[in-house]
Amino acid sequence: MQYMISKSSDGTIKITFKEGFVSVIIPTIDEKYAVCVSSQLGCPVGCSFCFTGKRGFKRNLTKEEMMKQIETVMTIIGKIPNSVVFMGMGEPTLNLENVLEAAEEIHKKYSIAYVRITISTSCLKNLNKLLNIPFNLALSVHSVDEKTRKKIMPKSVSTKTILNFANKYFKIHPKKYLMIEYALMKGINDSEKDIEKLTKIKWPKRTLFNFIQFNEIGKFKQVNIERMREFKQAMRDAGYKAFIRQNRGSDIKAACGMLDYK
Ligand code: SF4
Repeated sequence: MQYMISKSSDGTIKITFKEGFVSVIIPTIDEKYAVCVSSQLGCPVGCSFCFTGKRGFKRNLTKEEMMKQIETVMTIIGKIPNSVVFMGMGEPTLNLENVLEAAEEIHKKYSIAYVRITISTSCLKNLNKLLNIPFNLALSVHSVDEKTRKKIMPKSVSTKTILNFANKYFKIHPKKYLMIEYALMKGINDSEKDIEKLTKIKWPKRTLFNFIQFNEIGKFKQVNIERMREFKQAMRDAGYKAFIRQNRGSDIKAACGMLDYK
């Protein structure tokens, strides 16, 4: 068997390939599917809230291995997925050449629009390499407080560098959106001060905020949905688009930060 399938009670499907990497199929509305692809086996970045990061790094995946993830997903769902996110195991910018080649092939071969293919990054020193990519971009920020971010994402650049990047990004892509990902963790990045700091920053207008319902991993705990709504509303009141991404697939360890490998 080339892969193993686990099914969540919420419909999410996790595919564990015999090589150890993992893909996740997330059913959305109207029988549409989003697919989360891994770019590395393990991850060298070591974000403290992430199980993949704790397991360390084995190797980069090849373009063919990323294409194999998409092809396998299509065999399982019987159609082309509607969107693809490079948010599985690994930091895509540390395997950027292979990731961009795979993303381009997915776009051309399956006619999936560039805006439906997202590259996610934990904002390392190489962030500027993403300035000119045609795909959607998601920046994992998780806190704009420097001390907190250094604690949970020790390799991430400063908020100021992220903001500079966002401003440069919109000069090049004025019609696109840029997504900021913020996984809410109880007692870590969910205080009133955190809301205040996040809303006080003058983000470019087309910055989108995605508040993620975090999964319980070790000392990192989930916040309740009301608190998530308060963050979302605060950003909306500040004039930005903001959304909540609910926890999917946590019962099969397929949710954000939970991916493990053999
Ligand atoms: S959150 Fe992403 S970048 Fe950070 S350790 Fe996990 S997989 Fe790597």
